[in-house]
Amino acid sequence: MRYTEPKDRSAELLRLALAQMGRHPAAFNPLTFTLWYEFVSGTNPRLNAAVEALQTAGTLIDDERVLLLCREFVFPPDEDSLDRVRLEMQQLLLGIGRSAGETGRQVGDFGTQLAGLTQALATQDADRIAPQVADVMQGTARLQQSMDDLRTQVQASQTEVDRLRLALDRARSEALIDPLTGVLNRKGFDKTLQAMVAAKPPPGTTHVLVMLDIDHFKKVNDTHGHLIGDRVIQGLGEILRATVKSPQAASARYGGEEFAILLPQSTVAHSHEVTEAVRARTKALRIRNRSTQEVLVTVTVSGGLAAWRPGDGPDDLVARADAALYASKKAGRDRLTLA
Ligand code: GH3
Ligand code: MG
Ligand code: MG
Repeated sequence: MRYTEPKDRSAELLRLALAQMGRHPAAFNPLTFTLWYEFVSGTNPRLNAAVEALQTAGTLIDDERVLLLCREFVFPPDEDSLDRVRLEMQQLLLGIGRSAGETGRQVGDFGTQLAGLTQALATQDADRIAPQVADVMQGTARLQQSMDDLRTQVQASQTEVDRLRLALDRARSEALIDPLTGVLNRKGFDKTLQAMVAAKPPPGTTHVLVMLDIDHFKKVNDTHGHLIGDRVIQGLGEILRATVKSPQAASARYGGEEFAILLPQSTVAHSHEVTEAVRARTKALRIRNRSTQEVLVTVTVSGGLAAWRPGDGPDDLVARADAALYASKKAGRDRLTLA
């Protein structure tokens, strides 16, 4: 125990210390009080010698001077506390050292500071520790900032990567989707057809390709113009998206006013059913004048279905479905033919 004075003696010391504190510019804080309490008690001869020397020189004791005197004479680092600080610093250095490994920046400077502190700790040179600690604390703050920057940067990069991946996905799917109708474009059709014929259909199923062509479409364009023609094409796209809904099946715009339905691992009966629904809905489609609601156009569609046969490549299937479509046209349109 550093202070052993009984209460009445300490009260006297308090009064004396306050008198000293009033004479000097340093703030009335516990540090200042401790300094003057020790001074007036006379228990710290080295401190008294230093303060008396200052008083003789007429130097007033301000906050900075209080700090220096306390560091020097009031709280000299004893062996135990030095050991404790040394241990804590070593732990801290170890932790920081690990973190520092994660950021490549400023580590060089910081390492030098750490080395200085470690050396100061080893030599137990109290005078050297304080400035070294200040250095290391500054270095730590800088390193912390750089690590925060790095973390922010990593997070930003992650967000950027996610954004790019999404954009890439979108671009990829957009490249395969026809913008007017929302169904697969020719490239998407080719890819899907390739994939379909590449895998043998499981027993009891077959791959079916349907080719569709709008009947007398030239007349629609000629009578109402290409914009109305486009609305018909859009309308058939909507019908296909609404009707061809099973997860494996896909619809595509083969080109112009020609469409296709791909039904992998399906049956001819089911494919016919789906295509028949498309045909019926197309016949029921009404393209109206947007302001008067007057019906401008009705259309029909013809279709040809072809079932996959062992050895069929994409072209074989397209050729047979096309031939069946041609048969539907010849037979009077607005109908389906099975190859
Ligand atoms: P068929 O019943 O024999 O199929 O008669 P059709 O008039 O439909 O004959 P054809 O296939 O020769 O004509 C297709 C027309 O479709 C020709 C072209 O001007 C038109 N067309 C192709 N692509 C588009 C398009 O994107 N928009 C519009 N408005 N017209 C298109
Ligand atoms: Mg055509
Ligand atoms: Mg046509």
